[in-house]
Amino acid sequence: MLIDFHTHIFPDAIAARTLEILVNGIRRQQGDAFVAGRTMHHTDGTLQGLLDSMEDNHVDMSICLPIVTKMTQTESINRFAYGIRNQVTQSFGSLHPLQPDWEQVLEQLAEKGFRGIKLHHQFQLCDIDSKESIRVLKKAGALGLLVIFHAGADIGLPPPVYATPEKIRNVLTEMDGSHLIAAHLGGWRMWDDVERYLLGTSIYLDTAYIREYIDPVQCKRIIDAHGADRVLFGSDSPWENPSETLAFLQSLALTQEQMDAITHRNAQRLLGLE
Ligand SMILES: [Zn+2]
Repeated sequence: MLIDFHTHIFPDAIAARTLEILVNGIRRQQGDAFVAGRTMHHTDGTLQGLLDSMEDNHVDMSICLPIVTKMTQTESINRFAYGIRNQVTQSFGSLHPLQPDWEQVLEQLAEKGFRGIKLHHQFQLCDIDSKESIRVLKKAGALGLLVIFHAGADIGLPPPVYATPEKIRNVLTEMDGSHLIAAHLGGWRMWDDVERYLLGTSIYLDTAYIREYIDPVQCKRIIDAHGADRVLFGSDSPWENPSETLAFLQSLALTQEQMDAITHRNAQRLLGLE
C-alpha cells in the first residue's frame, strides 16, 4: 500500500502553462545548466496525468495540494480541489494567510469535508510564525483540518525563507503540532536546522523532493531521531516520480515497520481511513 501525501495537479486548461511558468522560475534560480537535459516534470500536470502516473508507479492514493498565491483565486482553486475528489485522489484546500475572510474560508472547507489545507509561505510572502499565519494554523487545528506547508528554501523562488525550521519551532511554542506537516523533511536544504530545531517535536515531516539534495545518512538519522510514526511519504509529483522517492527510502535500510508507517499507516491514521 502506497499513499502519496504530496502531489500537484492543475486544471486542464492551465496545466501546461503553469508548469512552464514554474520551470522558468527554477531556471532563474538554479541556472540553465540545472534545467538542461533534466526531466523537469514527470506528468503533464493534469488529473489524468496524475492518475496515469499512479498506475505506472503503483500508488494507491494521492493527496493533491493546491496553492493559493493570489487571494482572488481562493474560491476557484477550492472549487477545483473539491471537484477532483474520487476513490484514489483527494485534494486539500488552500487559502492565503493574509486574506480578510480567512476564518470563513477555513470554516467552509471544514464543512465541505476537506481533510486539510496547503500553505506555501514562500509564495505567499508571509512568515510562518507571523500572527496572520499562526491564527490560520490554530483555527485549522480547532476545525480538525491538517495543515501541510512548504518548509525551507524553494528551488524556484528567491530568499528570504519564510518557513525555516527555526520559525517552525516558534510556531510550536504557540500550539501542539500534531496537525501540522512540514514538507521536504522539515526544511528543504536546511536539514542541519531541522536537526537543531524540529527533531522529536509533535510535527509531521514529509519526504517530498529531497532525494537528490539530502545526504542519505542525514536523512536516515532525521527519520530515526524524529520517529517514523511522524514521517509521511510524499513525492512532490510531477516534480519527482513516486517510484524514485520510494527507491530512495528503500536505499536507507529502514525497518519494515518504519517503511509501513511512512508509506501508508501514518497517512491512513491522519486521513481517518483506518
Ligand atoms: Zn510540492
